[in-house]
Amino acid sequence: MKTIGLLGGMSWESSVEYYRIINETVKQRLGGLHSAKCLMYSVDFAEIESLQHASEWDILTATMVEASIRLESGGADCLVICTNTMHQMANEIQAAINIPLIHIADATAAEIQTKGLYKIGLLGTRFTMEGDFYRKRLEERHGPKVIIPDKKQRETVHQVIYNELVKGEIRDESREVFKDIIANLGSVGAEGVILGCTEIPLLVHQEDVDIPIFDTTQIHAEAAADWALSV
Ligand code: GLU
Repeated sequence: MKTIGLLGGMSWESSVEYYRIINETVKQRLGGLHSAKCLMYSVDFAEIESLQHASEWDILTATMVEASIRLESGGADCLVICTNTMHQMANEIQAAINIPLIHIADATAAEIQTKGLYKIGLLGTRFTMEGDFYRKRLEERHGPKVIIPDKKQRETVHQVIYNELVKGEIRDESREVFKDIIANLGSVGAEGVILGCTEIPLLVHQEDVDIPIFDTTQIHAEAAADWALSV
């Protein structure tokens, strides 16, 4: 079994889910007392969040690169960035390390392809929904057409993520708002929706909505465990 390097803390509320899912997957596959070999480098999210909202992407890239090099030096065989948003600098990170980065959008696209869906909604931070790095990677490398909510709804999703979910606050009224936004995406043709922020699966579950959801935390963590067991 290989050692998984987890770049976490963004937020720790979802990093803990990665740790759980990776270990559960290894236990399911190998049985007995088996558990995952992994390292986690966990940042202080307050520092990251203020740099994000100040658009200090160069500093953030340097911070992510440094953390990834530390994971590689510590013995990680692959890198898993435990957030969708911080895949913004995935190319720079991959160029700075000699171990493979398991990209969250690639793992998610593979899952969408197995379901044969072509038009897919995307929920996440404003950075993930509006930037090119995530949508383009999905559309150009993997094919599905990606649609996002309107500006007002995007702002709502962004605010719920940063004001509630990353603090571990799970509110029924926010779940209702997300259900409406997802129903809206469905009404304009989305055949499924990517929960493209690793905390959204703490709020919204498959039984809440009528179209298939793609839980990026579950998908990414399972892909990491699969990789560690297969190479
Ligand atoms: N965990 C979130 C994501 O998947 C948001 C936190 C962050 O900005 O990294 O995008």
